[in-house]
Amino acid sequence: MASNAHHDVVVVGNGVVGSSIAFELSRRGARVARIGEPNRKYAASTASGAMLGCFGEVTTALLATEHGRAKLAVDYEARGLWAGWAELLADVAADERALVTSRGTLVMLNSTGSKAVDTGNFQAIESTLRTYDEPYERVDPQDDAWLAPNDLHRSLLGLYIPGERSVDSALLLTKLDAALRNTSGTIVDGRARVLVTQGDRVTGVALDDGTVVGGYTVIVAAGATSLDLLATFEDVARRVPPMVSGYGVSVVVETPDGRVPDSVLRTPNRSFACGLHCVPRADGSLYIGATNIISPDPGSTRC
Ligand SMILES: Cc1cc2nc3c(=O)[nH]c(=O)nc-3n(C[C@H](O)[C@H](O)[C@H](O)COP(=O)(O)OP(=O)(O)OC[C@H]3O[C@@H](n4cnc5c(N)ncnc54)[C@H](O)[C@@H]3O)c2cc1C
Repeated sequence: MASNAHHDVVVVGNGVVGSSIAFELSRRGARVARIGEPNRKYAASTASGAMLGCFGEVTTALLATEHGRAKLAVDYEARGLWAGWAELLADVAADERALVTSRGTLVMLNSTGSKAVDTGNFQAIESTLRTYDEPYERVDPQDDAWLAPNDLHRSLLGLYIPGERSVDSALLLTKLDAALRNTSGTIVDGRARVLVTQGDRVTGVALDDGTVVGGYTVIVAAGATSLDLLATFEDVARRVPPMVSGYGVSVVVETPDGRVPDSVLRTPNRSFACGLHCVPRADGSLYIGATNIISPDPGSTRC
């Protein structure tokens, strides 16, 4: 077993959360190793439409609880940090390609759906926009050149939110990798099997191939499988909310003339999924997603 005890921090997981933590700590001078396979198996970050949805994600259920309202407040604060974060990443990664891929978001209420879920969530979005004094306008979605719905499923109402955008998730991960390397962080290609302990301290991470990556602090940011690695640390595991996998379908398409909408087009959330959404990507393609079914175990089918 190889051992390397020279890292201040070892981060397990190379999705957007682990990669952001690893880069930020490395930028602040910590000696960081980030563990994860390059294909990012089962990562939500690569499956995501990557809407920077704050208001578009609001539901009646979210507003009904203190925790939901606190989440919304965090979303709002986080959204305001994106411009500075994108600029920093461009500088450190030495990659000026634009991360933000849309001008705004059009939220539509369709004639299909239920009053309680679809109309309720649409109204919750609009009331929250007013509460936060967020600029938006009511628009007639039937005027949108990108929509040609069947008469039975047409959109009746629309909210255009210019400040609600999206990012290119593949480019974001590419930039986070480069930014970590450029701040002297170490990218370890492998899968963490178990956390290594000495007495009551975690001192490193053992990989599937037997290599041990040592560190003074270990951060587990392995998405839905994080609790598997933490299962034997009962006092830690019981303080982490359960995380489950989701599986579903999304597609990335190219249009015949290469044109795509310049805004996110979406419906309000329903059935554990982010409504239906079309998100323009940096390479000129269009992401259309996504269904989501909760599952205790991750699964993977790519077409
Ligand atoms: C279909 C879909 C659409 C979504 N759309 C949006 C959206 O529009 N906007 C939005 O804000 N959010 C969206 N989300 C949610 C968002 O993608 C996630 O919240 C976010 O990507 C989670 O990032 P993460 O780094 O925590 O986890 P992940 O992206 O899942 O990353 C975990 C990483 O850890 C790695 N890993 C796992 N186990 C180990 C191990 N033992 N050793 C080493 N590495 C390991 C995995 O391979 C993976 O790369 C969507 C999610 C899905 C599934």
